Amino acid sequence: MPSYLFCPNCGQRSENGLCTQCFLEQFDLVNCPPLLVAKVCTTCGSCFRNGKWVECDLNSLTTSTVRSQLNINPAAEDVHISLVPEIFGENMRVHAHVDAMVRGRAVSEDFDVDVRIARKSCDRCRLITGGYYEAIVQLRAENRYPTSEERSRCKDITANVINQLQKSNRMTFISDIKELKEGIDIYVVPIHAGDQVSKAIAERFGGQISRAAKLAGRREGKDVYRVSFSVRLPRFMVGDILSLGDLIIDITSTGKRIVGRDLNTGARFNSDVKDMVDAELLCHRSDAKTTVLTMVQDDEIQVLDPDSYEPITLPRPAFLNAKGGDEVSVIKTHKCMFVLPD
Ligand SMILES: [Zn+2]
Ligand SMILES: [Zn+2]
Repeated sequence: MPSYLFCPNCGQRSENGLCTQCFLEQFDLVNCPPLLVAKVCTTCGSCFRNGKWVECDLNSLTTSTVRSQLNINPAAEDVHISLVPEIFGENMRVHAHVDAMVRGRAVSEDFDVDVRIARKSCDRCRLITGGYYEAIVQLRAENRYPTSEERSRCKDITANVINQLQKSNRMTFISDIKELKEGIDIYVVPIHAGDQVSKAIAERFGGQISRAAKLAGRREGKDVYRVSFSVRLPRFMVGDILSLGDLIIDITSTGKRIVGRDLNTGARFNSDVKDMVDAELLCHRSDAKTTVLTMVQDDEIQVLDPDSYEPITLPRPAFLNAKGGDEVSVIKTHKCMFVLPD
């Protein structure tokens, strides 16, 4: 037996079949189909990756699509792959560079892969389009209708809560928002989202949540429920002026506690909304009228009635800084007239 063999291709001395040079000439470092397809949701931009819809950007979708289809020769060692995506018309193109060591020699290959972007509707957007929902958050208010400010704040709160929940469960979404005279109905998925949204609204505005479940049918042998969360905003709003016992309260903040100022003394008012069942709504700050403060003397002031221009004497409020001749805002209720703080 000879201690060496010859390359069957070129006849040079070689100990393991083809010599390194002939081996490398026919060596295929990497194989990849020249055209691949990636699915992207037309509506929300979600990407279909590894068999499911996920949130990711087009660059990482295209590079991962190419990476999953790269077939690297198992004889290659110390493999480095660089994939640089670029927008190519409506689609993407990836510039690939692979280098590796083969039989102790450095080899590399450069090639482009086109990734066609197929625009589809993702699982979530299909459900939204179909009007699918699992819970309804019904925003209402006690003895009144929610204001446009409250409505828009509630929609902001809902969007924030849903965005947060979507990070751990992408099948969390707002299916529909219906504006009604008596409030708004927000349709969401899943039930947990309805729970979280109603709690966040009640946390911000105060108010009661009531929950009702209704059987909506059966799916995969299990009962499926739809849950409504009714959030009742409190009777009072910022700017409401109410009487409670001897107090006339100008409300400056609402929530679980009602904060305001007594218009007689200027004293701060702070009470649990539950302790205010006897309060009577007199009017709102926006009902105030401008008039002239004609005199300030010791504990008394005189203002002109904004309707009749009769001089009216009132006790001097503690917060009053205005002087005789200044303009002040006054509120006339069926009980009395009050000067408002600036
Ligand atoms: Zn050879
Ligand atoms: Zn989508």
